[in-house]
Amino acid sequence: MTDDCLFCKIVAGEIPATVVRETGTTLAFRDIAPKAPVHVLVIPKEHFGDVVTLAEADGKLMAEVMETAAVVAEHEGLTTDGFRLIFNTGPYGGQEVAHAHAHVLGGAPLGPMLA
Ligand code: C5P
Repeated sequence: MTDDCLFCKIVAGEIPATVVRETGTTLAFRDIAPKAPVHVLVIPKEHFGDVVTLAEADGKLMAEVMETAAVVAEHEGLTTDGFRLIFNTGPYGGQEVAHAHAHVLGGAPLGPMLA
């Protein structure tokens, strides 16, 4: 837990979120400002500032985040038509919350990644 981290506060139950899946090590919840019909964030419960830090520190936990993302995609009905999985990383990557998180986006054609 990092005191000033928004997503750590969601893990701690101090900030509300619509949780769609929880495992011992990961949490998946609906994005508060969805960019697609389905927009779920998947995070490790433990704090890592970004996905690179997470992957370097704990490959098993990284795999668990990916597994939760895959299960969420399945449960949200995204696997037939496909979906997008994004880890925004750092300022140039548009990362606004400094706690590693995957965006699972789908439910409609999303178009090219970079317009
Ligand atoms: O990748 P990035 O850091 O920009 O994504 C952060 C995401 O967290 C945003 O899509 C934002 O809508 C979401 N968010 C949320 N619940 C909050 C605060 C931010 O779902 N309480």
